[in-house]
Amino acid sequence: MSAFCIVDDKHIPVYRILWVSDLPHFCGSDECQREGEYEIRLDEGESVWGSLQERDAALAAVEAWRGKS
Ligand SMILES: [Zn+2]
Repeated sequence: MSAFCIVDDKHIPVYRILWVSDLPHFCGSDECQREGEYEIRLDEGESVWGSLQERDAALAAVEAWRGKS
């Protein structure tokens, strides 16, 4: 089993994931590049942003990594 998941074309080590957003991002800004994407918060104050499919895959990878079924 891999300890990585792929979000936004990046291989993210699952142990760096702090939390995963439940709802897609919406802030109403015309210049927002993240509208409709899901935030995946990493340690060190970083975030990556992914599609719903990437978000679900990240959640599944974290649960598998922690040994939950
Ligand atoms: Zn925004």
